[in-house]
Amino acid sequence: MAERLTPLEIMEKLVGFPTVSRDTNLPLIDWVEGYLTEHGVEVFRHEHPDEPKAGLWAHVGPKVEGAVVLSGHTDVVPVDGQDWTSDPWTVTERDGKYFGRGCTDMKGFDALAIWAMAEAAHMDLERPLQLALTYDEEIGLIGADPLLRDAEGRFPKGELAIIGEPTGLQVVTGHKSGIGYDVHVRGYEVHSSIAYKGVSAVMEGARLIMWANAMNAEGMAKEPTGVDAAFDPPWTNVHVGVIEGGTAHNITAKDCHFVLTFRCVPGDDPEDWAKRFEDEVRRIEAEMQKIRPEAGIDIDRRFEAAGLTPEEDGAAERLARLMTGDNGSHVVSYGTEAGYFQRHGFSAAVCGPGDIALAHQPDEYITKEQFEAGHAFMRRLLDHLKEGQ
Ligand SMILES: [Zn+2]
Repeated sequence: MAERLTPLEIMEKLVGFPTVSRDTNLPLIDWVEGYLTEHGVEVFRHEHPDEPKAGLWAHVGPKVEGAVVLSGHTDVVPVDGQDWTSDPWTVTERDGKYFGRGCTDMKGFDALAIWAMAEAAHMDLERPLQLALTYDEEIGLIGADPLLRDAEGRFPKGELAIIGEPTGLQVVTGHKSGIGYDVHVRGYEVHSSIAYKGVSAVMEGARLIMWANAMNAEGMAKEPTGVDAAFDPPWTNVHVGVIEGGTAHNITAKDCHFVLTFRCVPGDDPEDWAKRFEDEVRRIEAEMQKIRPEAGIDIDRRFEAAGLTPEEDGAAERLARLMTGDNGSHVVSYGTEAGYFQRHGFSAAVCGPGDIALAHQPDEYITKEQFEAGHAFMRRLLDHLKEGQ
């Protein structure tokens, strides 16, 4: 009979694979696939089209629709330049905490979910349980959508998905969507004493950034409605975090690069914002080209993140509340893969052990207490699925 590992042993195994997003996650996926298969769990593997990475979808229990899907990402952020007290790729216990890269974000949850799958394989479930593991979450929520597409139809459709990002086991039902652009303003260099004959990429870029400021002021002045009111801030925020341009104080800048991002409330359609932004780009560009036709603005959409819209009495929320006893309503400002599950027809909520503030940090850890609370969550879930509720 196949060996049954404890959640801690599974977490130790997972943390031991240094699955930084830029590197392969295949050794981890191979291990999970092998472990689950040994226990008789059916596994579907989704291969990345060009990189040595894979996602995984597994099913246990009766071949009927309505499964509970537990989902987590397998990639972690780098440890480069971080000061760690112990080896980040080895789970080390100190002061009631498990240290290691990913213990909180989110191999701790992954380990608990894998444990539950193997456990479920030795039980008589009335309602199926599924597991979805993704790649490339940390570099722009890239891996969920291809996995969801590829896994579609391989197993009976699940009803709801719990995405186990660290929420301290609170039930999070909403987060903003996002879009980001790389902006390259192309100017025309002349001496600044005759600046009007040239086009300053920096000063034209500044007009676009002023537009962003105006949009934020407009959002702030508006009375929030519906679910938007729960967010902080309750409007779509436009932000420029990085800018670079120009070569000298007395030359109109030839180039200016910046990254502009939108964090949209559920009440706003990100595509409407994309259109407003692109219209403004074209308006400013036309004025630049009146001075120098070779000037212009190139924009490249660098990422797009699905939002999680709070559901009216959603199945995922109801289940997660039942498992945790949390009856508060929580929305968060960071993005997760939950929005992609919602987009693919699942009810979705975010709920997992650990504190998001510890994610990505040196000496990342999960407290034993949170990890055990996560284990209790899984045990309750298994009992619940056994009774077919
Ligand atoms: Zn995460």
